[in-house]
Amino acid sequence: MDRAPTLRSKPVTAPRTVSILGATGSIGSSTADLLRRERDRFAVEALTAHKNGAALARLARDLGARFAAVADESAYAELKSGLARSGIEAAAGPEAVVEAARRPAEWVIGAITGAAGLEPALAAIERGATLALANKECLVCAGTLFMKRAQKTGATVLPVDSEHNALFQALTAGRREDVTKVIITASGGPFRTWSKDEIRKATLQAALKHPNWSMGPKVTIDSATLMNKGLEIIEAHHLFALDPDEIEVVVHPQSIVHGMVEFLDGSVIAHLGAHDMRIPISHCLAWPDRIDWPAPRLDLAAIGSLTFEKPDLERFPALGLAWATMRTGGGATTVLNAANEIAVAAFVEGQIGFTGIPALVEATIDGAASRGIMREPGSIAEALALDRDSRCLAKDFLPQIAAKAF
Ligand code: MG
Repeated sequence: MDRAPTLRSKPVTAPRTVSILGATGSIGSSTADLLRRERDRFAVEALTAHKNGAALARLARDLGARFAAVADESAYAELKSGLARSGIEAAAGPEAVVEAARRPAEWVIGAITGAAGLEPALAAIERGATLALANKECLVCAGTLFMKRAQKTGATVLPVDSEHNALFQALTAGRREDVTKVIITASGGPFRTWSKDEIRKATLQAALKHPNWSMGPKVTIDSATLMNKGLEIIEAHHLFALDPDEIEVVVHPQSIVHGMVEFLDGSVIAHLGAHDMRIPISHCLAWPDRIDWPAPRLDLAAIGSLTFEKPDLERFPALGLAWATMRTGGGATTVLNAANEIAVAAFVEGQIGFTGIPALVEATIDGAASRGIMREPGSIAEALALDRDSRCLAKDFLPQIAAKAF
């Protein structure tokens, strides 16, 4: 008896093996959601988490992982008992997280936040894997090192961040040598229309209200200062080997256009999409193919209008500082990132005002420059050492910044 062919038959291929570093965070959870929808297409090799052993064990069972590791050794017992009789190997400690990255998955999702993400992401690059990178620090603190190693080992770096993913997709419209510039959009944050004086008095509560995306407090405050965009231009500089002059930022409050690429004939290719991180993640997971999932669709008629404006570097000096460190090169962006983390934490704890954030970052960069410590990190150890030194320096400047009424 003849069977009618199915309409959407897919070619039979082995599933793509995937590991998620930072599986219980926001990017990790969105990735897991997509993997659950495509169980035949992906096989999970390893998962890691910081210290939520119980959640990691549940996720590892659900996704059928072979190996699960928590960075914090105190969470090992919880992970181990959660995985009892599952056949899934449990491990703990920073080395176990690096081991997870070394295991033979074709794709690695690098979604650990902060400096802890450097070593495991580099381990994936060293074995030539495809790394879907969500961690900012890899590129901001050690971008030259990362991209050099990726080139050497043949590893592919796919950008998860919505703006860089947009640029990655738009760049495929033409030849690299025909690109004249890229344009990254910024929402402008909650203080986009505030005066300098109003921004100076901004409260923590006001800074935590992002107009479009719901994210963690650190990145939300970075969006309010525009430092987030500053870190993103540095990432773009490394990811796509762009000169600082080839990168532009435009404020686009609707956050519908995520990135644009201009070619020498004047054509500008834009990437648009709804506010859902699963859209860029699904692109990274399936690349160069696509996942057919019920993604939120754009309704441009309902949105009505898209507006664009120039960023104001006077009201948002953090963006200017990022430009300056990108031009300086060497370890300057490592210092910028470390100082910003201290500054944001100090603002959250009420030690400094909102405009104290860029002021502390600037003081730290100047201090690091005059001490001659801003050398290009040649290894992860050197990047981490410069990160630590910059944090100490920022803390030294903290009382001085706190005393000034910005
Ligand atoms: Mg972004």
